[in-house]
Amino acid sequence: MAQQDDVFKKIVSHAKEYGFVFPSSEIYDGLSAVYDYGQNGVELKNNIKRYWWDAMTLLHENIVGIDSAIFMHPTIWKASGHVDAFNDPLIDNRDSKKRYRADVLIEDHLAKFDEKIDKETAKAAKRFGEAFDREQFLATSPRVAEIKAKRDALHERFAKAMNDSNLEELRQIIIDQEIVCPISGTRNWTEVRQFNLMFRTEMGSTADGAMSVYLRPETAQGIFVNYLNVQKTGRMRIPFGIAQIGKAFRNEIVARQFIFRMREFEQMEMQFFVRPGEELKWFAQWKEWRLRWHKALGLGDDKYRYHDHDKLAHYANAATDIEFLMPFGFKEVEGIHSRTDFDLSQHEKFSGKKIQYFDPELNQSYTPYVIETSIGVDRMFLSVLCSSYEEEQLENGETRVVLHLPAPLAPVKCAVLPLVRKDGLPEKAREIVDELKFDFATHYEEKDAIGKRYRRQDAIGTPFCITVDHQTLEDNTVTLRERDSMAQTRVPVDSLHALIHDRVSLAALLRKLR
Ligand code: ATP
Repeated sequence: MAQQDDVFKKIVSHAKEYGFVFPSSEIYDGLSAVYDYGQNGVELKNNIKRYWWDAMTLLHENIVGIDSAIFMHPTIWKASGHVDAFNDPLIDNRDSKKRYRADVLIEDHLAKFDEKIDKETAKAAKRFGEAFDREQFLATSPRVAEIKAKRDALHERFAKAMNDSNLEELRQIIIDQEIVCPISGTRNWTEVRQFNLMFRTEMGSTADGAMSVYLRPETAQGIFVNYLNVQKTGRMRIPFGIAQIGKAFRNEIVARQFIFRMREFEQMEMQFFVRPGEELKWFAQWKEWRLRWHKALGLGDDKYRYHDHDKLAHYANAATDIEFLMPFGFKEVEGIHSRTDFDLSQHEKFSGKKIQYFDPELNQSYTPYVIETSIGVDRMFLSVLCSSYEEEQLENGETRVVLHLPAPLAPVKCAVLPLVRKDGLPEKAREIVDELKFDFATHYEEKDAIGKRYRRQDAIGTPFCITVDHQTLEDNTVTLRERDSMAQTRVPVDSLHALIHDRVSLAALLRKLR
């Protein structure tokens, strides 16, 4: 774990050093859990968003996009339940004065049982050597059975406390399990309290007329309140979906792990409206489609898992997370929820407007049911960054830091490098840039030795470097260097476009989703 922490620290400093992510307001010592994306970060982020947007709106003729405002009528948040129930249970440690989410303390404690099982398994594997059968060991070891029983009992108690919003019971679990504050090491805990995560501000300037509004904590409600507009003006027929990408704000109690948990972040959400009774079929379908979208990036199929929810929100009848193996364990990147007709019905009730669909096939009106897919852009960014980062030992004894970013997501697709800064090579290199830049994000670099320039491009994940040398002037060929293999091939300048396009095109990635 300590080793993984080290890797994570290196990734965070790499992200800063190479212009991916900066702490916000850094010259004023930063603002907790708020980050800025730099010159390379914004490109990577835009490419992730484009991949998601195109996968939704180009590949599904029944999904359209919108861009709704961040400020919305405050009653929307009353209707959605956020004013009354968008809370996290918080607890303070009196000695360290640190604040925690009670549920997260317990979840982290639960994860320790699994770590214990892993340790027992590793010990047994060492003892039995080649003859070790992992499945059999897990099924028969009395020690493992004992740990599992304790974990399951705690899990059940925790799930019930969360479902009942029983704050005293959550505290009692923390006391009974002897969970200590990671900072002070003590068990001097306060009561558990509910804390609303929405940011509130004032809109309007007149003394009597200022209205309290919220910064939206999710983009989904902007979709629900535009359901009728889109359905009518787009003449959409059920089933159909509305997609949106935008900022969301949550006053997170404990913001940590870099851009994993931020107070200002970005979501990509899609609400898919279906016939009542068909929602679980569509839920299963979207579960599969979304995992396929993730896996097509090639970050490693074993890095994903589903985590089905025990605690269903009162309006949901199925929910799962897609978790990704971050350096700090499997963590939620995306949620897929079957939200029944809760949201549309609530908005119908609170707005007094009829929000229904007339189904011509059934000759009947109903409130559509909704499947939601909701993914955090920043968490997706983090998963791509973490799984791409490598400190590679080279045969010559050197180390290179390389980002094996999926080529269609890379901020820069190719860098054109004249071998020397004279003899007409820079001019020739510029000519090549001027051809390629219309289709690919192309860099021109002439400073430093060629090896150093390759390393700089490796560090930001550029899939291709194109080196222009004296031979280029004679036969119009260049050296094409590939990032991952470092293989160099001599190719005609005229073939560059096709060669690069093959690897970096988003369309090729999207085709994998068919
Ligand atoms: P968590 O349990 O981690 O707080 P959540 O279940 O509240 O997350 P959702 O409300 O389902 O999250 O939001 C959908 C997605 O938005 C999440 O899967 C995640 O990728 C992203 N997200 C939510 N909160 C944050 C945050 N504070 N910072 C960055 N991304 C976030």
